[in-house]
Amino acid sequence: MYYDKAIETMKREDLKKLQLERLQKTVHAAYQSPFYKKRFDSIGLKPKDIRTLEDIYKIPFTTKDDLRAAYPDLMLAVPKNQPVRIHSSSGTTGRATVIFFTKKDIDVWADLMGRCLYMAGMRPDDVFQNMVSYGLFTGGLGFHYGAERFGSMVIPAGGGNTAKQITLIKDFGTTYLHITPSYALHIAYELEQMKIPASSLGLKGLFCGAEPYSESTRKKLEEIYRIPVFNSYGLSEMNGPGVGFECQEKEDIHIWEDNYIVEIIDPQTGEAVLPGERGELVLTTINREAMPILRYRTKDLTFLHKDLCKCGRTHAKIGRIIGRSDDMLIVRGVNLFPSQIEAVIMEIPEVGNNYQIVIDRSDEHLDRLTVKVEIDNKVFHGELKDLKMIQKKIKHAIKEEIMIQPEIELLEPNTLPPSEGKAKRVIDLRNI
Ligand code: ADP
Ligand code: ZN
Repeated sequence: MYYDKAIETMKREDLKKLQLERLQKTVHAAYQSPFYKKRFDSIGLKPKDIRTLEDIYKIPFTTKDDLRAAYPDLMLAVPKNQPVRIHSSSGTTGRATVIFFTKKDIDVWADLMGRCLYMAGMRPDDVFQNMVSYGLFTGGLGFHYGAERFGSMVIPAGGGNTAKQITLIKDFGTTYLHITPSYALHIAYELEQMKIPASSLGLKGLFCGAEPYSESTRKKLEEIYRIPVFNSYGLSEMNGPGVGFECQEKEDIHIWEDNYIVEIIDPQTGEAVLPGERGELVLTTINREAMPILRYRTKDLTFLHKDLCKCGRTHAKIGRIIGRSDDMLIVRGVNLFPSQIEAVIMEIPEVGNNYQIVIDRSDEHLDRLTVKVEIDNKVFHGELKDLKMIQKKIKHAIKEEIMIQPEIELLEPNTLPPSEGKAKRVIDLRNI
């Protein structure tokens, strides 16, 4: 069952043809923006030099710093009166960047989003509650337009206010939620306090994204809610959500290649890695008017699947994002991602729904890694020797994974700040 069968199951060679056509058009359009004109001219590149898909390698990468430098509108490729909306990134890593949309861009985006929701199983009869913040953040309006597009009723609940969210779900028969994984875990805790089984709410599926989360967290959420959890990937520079989504195989993320060209590069050298190898995702918009972006370095680390998906869609798949290259922590010289720690602790049954990683320096100037872990109430108030055992178990499991011995602090549920949007998992107190 497809939202747009012809496009979603297009033969690879036809998809490539379409990509080349759209890439050429995009490069010509981008050249109309002051930013790309200057960039192309500085290396003597002409839009007509892009004759094949491989010619994309002639185009320099665009980085987040470029977008910041082009603020507010140097990347605009259409007259200033054409855009109908702007959005911006959530600014996780510094000054926000702005994206413009024409009416057609909004339309295309809503369609992409519609494709994603349909692919995961949502239908017009479903009721969709959008539990992320609206406003400049793309997750709100992006999902909203997509769900409305194919006729589902949308509840634009926004983030936070858990009690009200639960009332809305119950009173309006919500079947699908868009929610950050950390907020979904927090709501699970609140439901437990209210003695409402999460599985009694009548939900059919969760769309979770906007921040990295591990496969163990997905499993945990699926156990709590007893429904499938689909991974949703997007970034504001490429519209926002709707760039990639999981199909019902739930085996990594399809990227809509009629709208984006996908590359995976070695972040150090900028060279393409082999299919299946891990690297940084680079994306090019090939169906966007107001603000085309060429070879955007997302900093997100993933890999490209080699095989086609069982669902029949021919569009490429990328693996779950393990983190951003700038999320990588170096602790006592060892490289690690917060997601590695998450994957390990969420496998441990006594572990609750929230955790935090704190790094500081001891008096001897050594890095110290502390993982604060909320655990189940019953366990927390149980026997001290059991607590000691759990602490040891968590410590051992993390050490096995990352080779560094962490300190483990066990906490009562709901001690750490709850997350209603993107969770802040790492507190780095070292001044480096
Ligand atoms: P910011 O870069 O300021 O956070 P965005 O709101 O555009 O701005 O966030 C996009 C980023 O969020 C992505 O580049 C990625 O790092 C992260 N992200 C979004 N969805 C997912 C997901 N499903 N898994 C992992 N990371 C994700
Ligand atoms: Zn698939």
